[in-house]
Amino acid sequence: MQNFGEPSFRDSVDLMFNRATALMDLSPGLEQKIKVCNSTYTVRFGVRLRGKIETFTGYRSVHSEHMEPVKGGIRYALAVNQNEVEALAALMTYKCALVETPFGGSKGGLCIDPRAWEPHELESITRRFAYELIKRDLINPAQNVPAPDMGTGEREMAWIADQYARMHTADINAKACVTGKPPHAGGIQGRVEATGRGVQYALQEFFRYDEDKALAGLSGNLDGKRIIVQGLGNVGYHAAKFLSEEDGAKIVAVIEWDGAIVDDDGVDIEDLHQWIVKHGSVKGYPHGTFVAEGAVVLEKDCDVLIPAALEGVINLSNADRIKAKLIIEAANGPVTFGADEVLRKKGVVIIPDMYANAGGVTVSYFEWVKNLSHIRFGRMQRRAEEARHILLVNELERLSSDKGLGWTMSPGFKSKYLKGAGELELVRSGLDDTMRTAYQAMREVWHGRADVEDLRVAAYIVSISRVAATYQSKGL
Ligand code: GLU
Repeated sequence: MQNFGEPSFRDSVDLMFNRATALMDLSPGLEQKIKVCNSTYTVRFGVRLRGKIETFTGYRSVHSEHMEPVKGGIRYALAVNQNEVEALAALMTYKCALVETPFGGSKGGLCIDPRAWEPHELESITRRFAYELIKRDLINPAQNVPAPDMGTGEREMAWIADQYARMHTADINAKACVTGKPPHAGGIQGRVEATGRGVQYALQEFFRYDEDKALAGLSGNLDGKRIIVQGLGNVGYHAAKFLSEEDGAKIVAVIEWDGAIVDDDGVDIEDLHQWIVKHGSVKGYPHGTFVAEGAVVLEKDCDVLIPAALEGVINLSNADRIKAKLIIEAANGPVTFGADEVLRKKGVVIIPDMYANAGGVTVSYFEWVKNLSHIRFGRMQRRAEEARHILLVNELERLSSDKGLGWTMSPGFKSKYLKGAGELELVRSGLDDTMRTAYQAMREVWHGRADVEDLRVAAYIVSISRVAATYQSKGL
């Protein structure tokens, strides 16, 4: 969605990269080496469907192999094109470096409307696309590991994993060829919600710093903050659900492809989600006010705006009318290069995509490690941890009764404390730690350097320095 003569998505990412490298001292030529997309493979393949051969076009782009495997989702959408896939692959490189997942950046896409096909047809198409990529090692546990993105999910990842296993019957690490699989097919607990959970952890971390909040004209914590969410897909739904149900934020509007629901008292996200699942649309939802022109709702007054849908939705046509104090980019590339400049001048703080939506790839990393280690996280430690806790609690109770102190533990404490961490708790803990650590790395550059104006440039500086260090140790 590029309007008003704005640069393409790919160019927009590169221009943001250039803003950062202008402030860095990279060795000659290294900047260009990091920036360019290494390769993009285009495949056109036919699948016999509904009595005829349908031809599909797909891509897998590898932006940087400074670390392998390379990593990034596969998107199913009619608008998929090479420029978009390359921009998204570049963002994967910077995202992985920022959150310290040991991968290069990649991305894939298939030009298809997934709603136009029956599940068994989608399976044939996915298996054929996977076959084309697997035979060129563009899906491989050691070289290139896809994951879900827009239009794909656990189901497609399970088909891809099975296709790989059929083609590599003796590969003991076959399951690690793709992440985002359902738990019964080698997936990990908490992967589906991971990107939305990461958005929640990112906002929680932002709200821990008075200095950062003040720059956005905000104070306090997330409780009662007015939030607008654009897109109630996997990422937007989970982020909005957790922020409203667990942090007390008020989701004052939800914008979907066919209109918006506005409610100053707060939208019940689970209820609206169930409505969309049932009716396929927000239209007719019995609570709040329906606004047919969703794009206008982006400009409504709020504390936090969460674009969680497509790239380029905040552009030169609407940037100067955006009233949010803080924007957190749950989608990839929702703010164009031009809009970013306008918003910065207005004093809007933007938490950039490469950080904000990194929860997905972070938990993908945990899944990949789980697959390679062939054991569920917590399996060895959980009961040992519980046994030590029981020991301590019993000892405290004995001391209390021996000395006649009459200590009693608060209700619920004992059962909570005694419970050893299972896979889901460990995944959440690892994700929270990752989001906090990465934010701290960004804000150190943001506040520590007089020439760094915003979090996006800070994020690029952190990422690019890490990629550059890897290249240097490789002798490049
Ligand atoms: N598609 C997601 C992203 O854009 C997840 C990628 C992954 O898990 O590898 O970050």
